[in-house]
Amino acid sequence: MDLTGKSCIVTGAARGIGAEIAKRYVQGGAKVAIADLDLASAQATAKELTDMGPGEAMGIAMNVTDEEAVNAGVAEVVEAWGTVDVLVSNAGIQIVHELVDFPYDDWKKLLSIHLDGAFLTSKAAMKQMYKQNSGSIIFMGSVHSKEASPLKSAYVTAKHGLIGLAKVISKEGAAHGIRANVICPGFVKTPLVEKQIPEQAKELGISEEDVVNNIMLSGTVDKEFTTVEDVAEVAYLFAAFPSNALTGQSLVVSHGWFMN
Ligand code: NAD
Repeated sequence: MDLTGKSCIVTGAARGIGAEIAKRYVQGGAKVAIADLDLASAQATAKELTDMGPGEAMGIAMNVTDEEAVNAGVAEVVEAWGTVDVLVSNAGIQIVHELVDFPYDDWKKLLSIHLDGAFLTSKAAMKQMYKQNSGSIIFMGSVHSKEASPLKSAYVTAKHGLIGLAKVISKEGAAHGIRANVICPGFVKTPLVEKQIPEQAKELGISEEDVVNNIMLSGTVDKEFTTVEDVAEVAYLFAAFPSNALTGQSLVVSHGWFMN
């Protein structure tokens, strides 16, 4: 399994899980476009990865909810590297509230980044993948693609939706050599999760320690956080798998928090 010379786009890759996936791909010899709202950070991450090699990276500006920006970003990658072999739709946010207090604007914002983002980036990348007759699309799901937690109505809804979208792409894309899969991580200590710890403590009226031990890690087999490296390894597997036998799947990497 090899990614040498492959052209990859990872959204939301300026930091966190996406940055580690980009690193793993560059270590595997790939060319990676780090597509993020935050262009300066995307470029800084890209420089770091290119210096590390053996692959290379470039930072591109992309708001995944803006169709023109998505199309322009994908066009920039095709212009630079000729193909789009792998798309990782990873950009995401978290907003927690009880459903009865969930501001409608926050609901729409979260669904848009996760679902419109996956739709628009897939649509743009697939048009190029059809020309190549090959491509691998990976969505960043979550244990919340399969499980629910209080306060996370928007996130759970969006993450469940990604599994449906990946299954449709598997069926529509098959005739064009495209496969689609979903990674479903447990809690990973990135800024997205660090931010939630005090927020959930406040919403639930418990200590931050209790949020970590009794909410985030209570269902795991070993009370361990999943790491960015764990998730990047699964993203490598889905990207580099040598055939389209592996399609329409969702793989949970969560220290046993959720078991199929
Ligand atoms: P993070 O907050 O560390 O990074 C998210 C990145 O996405 C940032 O660089 C941000 O600038 C970018 N981004 C946000 N909105 C964007 C937009 N509209 N267009 C382009 N880029 C945008 O988050 P993370 O923890 O690395 O999460 C990455 C993905 O993994 C998300 O989809 C998240 O839901 C998922 N996930 C995270 C965890 C976890 O525990 N951290 C667990 C399961 C799934």
